[in-house]
Amino acid sequence: MVRVTTPLDPAAVIAEFIDAVAPYNPQPDAAPVAVIGVRTALGEDVFTLSDHVVRALCKALVSYRDPEDRGSCSGCGGRHLDENLHCRDCGQLHGILGQVIAEHARRVAAENDGPQ
Ligand SMILES: [Zn+2]
Repeated sequence: MVRVTTPLDPAAVIAEFIDAVAPYNPQPDAAPVAVIGVRTALGEDVFTLSDHVVRALCKALVSYRDPEDRGSCSGCGGRHLDENLHCRDCGQLHGILGQVIAEHARRVAAENDGPQ
């Protein structure tokens, strides 16, 4: 099993993916439908893929979500919300905590604007 740690060897990961998926090909005798080449500092390899493996690879890629992806900012549309759902681009807060903090900030501002 290839562990996802650095350094990651992309060619080895792809080879392992193929090994994991290929045995379940319902048409093992069908001709390959794709060739992908991978070249990195760690080496290079060329893989001939069946329709079954190509579909599995596409499904895996489509379902991938970056761990840093917390959606987009409703204020500016930015894609960089930090772990507190705070937009790094415009400063807006999101989520329940963001709403509570924003409400509190409005109350404090209103109190400060009131009669002294
Ligand atoms: Zn924003």
